[in-house]
Amino acid sequence: MSGVWEQRWHPFRREWVVIAAHRDRRPWIGETVRHGGPALPAYDPRCTFCPGNRRSSGVRNPDYAGVFAFDNDHPCVGPDAPAELQPAPGSYRNRRADGLARVVCYHPRHDLRLASLDVAAVDALLACWQQQYRELGARPAVRHVLVFENNGEVVGVSNPHPHCQIYATNFVFKTIENEVAHCDEHLAAHGRTLWDDCVRTELDDGRRLLDVEADALAFVPYFARYAYETFVGPRRSVASIAALDDVERLALARVLRATLQRFDRLFDMPFPYVMALHQAPTDGRDHAAFGFHVELHPPLRRPGLLKYLAGPEIGGGSFLSDTCPEDKAAELRAAAPPA
Ligand SMILES: [Zn+2]
Repeated sequence: MSGVWEQRWHPFRREWVVIAAHRDRRPWIGETVRHGGPALPAYDPRCTFCPGNRRSSGVRNPDYAGVFAFDNDHPCVGPDAPAELQPAPGSYRNRRADGLARVVCYHPRHDLRLASLDVAAVDALLACWQQQYRELGARPAVRHVLVFENNGEVVGVSNPHPHCQIYATNFVFKTIENEVAHCDEHLAAHGRTLWDDCVRTELDDGRRLLDVEADALAFVPYFARYAYETFVGPRRSVASIAALDDVERLALARVLRATLQRFDRLFDMPFPYVMALHQAPTDGRDHAAFGFHVELHPPLRRPGLLKYLAGPEIGGGSFLSDTCPEDKAAELRAAAPPA
């Protein structure tokens, strides 16, 4: 499939992605990213997330085992946001930065990654995400619960301790707002959810599949914007992770872990990524059309080489990919984790 040069429709975002894989081997004299870094200690006395350490708020972490969730000491939205605002000028609007921001540590060990946790620990994290979605989503002011992990220095992570963040907000993040509208329209037009159609198409085609189980799967989508972009989700179309039963959640834990292990084995380095759970808003509306899934956006397109967001992406708002999703899925399939 090398050299594919075409446009592919992204049905969740409703935009064209330009696949220009014939450009991937063009000479590169720009910036490169170095491999990995020094090995981390199991415990770092300076880390604000390690058990027993004092956080910047002055609160001391408990001697936790397993998953540990707490309110973010540096929240972007929260109950302490100023209620008294400067009036917005002219025709502009502003409002209080209401909401709640949390951090979830995956494990007490400072040196682990999500990929290096065992399946039971990943499943415990997924159970925490279910609980957080239910608890935060039940708050009247919270319309959306965004769970995400920034992983790696190249995506600006300030602390390597394995953790994710949760933003429970009084608005729905734009990507999800758009996806909700597109999922609603797809179900109304076709009588099937967009997630069901996407899963069926990927299973039938097969060229971009990574791991497939009876209750969960991972694939590089046909319309991937990033080189190793991967969707991980349940086989069943559900609105949020909270709707998964224990069997489905465990299957998702296995497939998510296997995907992250493929990333790390691909270039033999801790592979950076941005991971986001795409979940239905908690705004009280019916979201039966929405298909919960996890999106992984790795910023590297080759070892040491970042995918830069530039003119087409930042300036124009649409993606240009220099790689072919079928090729990248084959590479990830070959980087199989140990059985
Ligand atoms: Zn730590």
